Amino acid sequence: MLQGARHVHISSLNEASKDCGIPIKIVELRKSSDLLNQNIHALVIPGGESTTMRLTGNSSNSLILPKLLDWLRKNPKIPVLGTCAGAILLSDPQDDKESLINASINRNAYGRQINSFQAVVETSLLNRSFPGIFIRAPKFDSNISADNIVATCDGDIVGVRKHNRIALTFHPELSEDIGFHSWIIEQAKAVLGDSDAT
Ligand code: GLN
Repeated sequence: MLQGARHVHISSLNEASKDCGIPIKIVELRKSSDLLNQNIHALVIPGGESTTMRLTGNSSNSLILPKLLDWLRKNPKIPVLGTCAGAILLSDPQDDKESLINASINRNAYGRQINSFQAVVETSLLNRSFPGIFIRAPKFDSNISADNIVATCDGDIVGVRKHNRIALTFHPELSEDIGFHSWIIEQAKAVLGDSDAT
């Protein structure tokens, strides 16, 4: 919650929760202690500006970023949705430890802000197409194993998966389609078993 399109994700999650009939509680993460003693069963890392996220997330009054990355590595089943800058952090954590998604990524690969665009994405995760909103988007390298690819757009890989972690180079929260937000809620419930999803 330090930077980026995080409030829009909360709206999409609340809408998806209603739509799929699974109650959720949103926990806002800003500092490392926010991760303690909380039953967190899924994580969204928003899009925004990855350099700013690294600076704020590693600053001494937050330290949420190193804590979060280590927590994810210890809990590979946790469903994660990393969008745009969030996908960059998953792919390239820059903490001298392994990548969270086994895919390399290039920032700003489509050009400057003015080269942002919308295009139809095909996604095997939802088994359908999805309205892709790409804002100064990064690009995954093309040498990603086919098993890990969950979304493509005009021949580019725009979504990859490792365990229950999904990294997308576009912004699903800015479209009206709540498919990916429903996916993460349903996945969290599935991981938890049939007990209450939080
Ligand atoms: N270009 C941004 C970065 O490098 C990502 C853009 C976005 O999240 N919309 O972090």
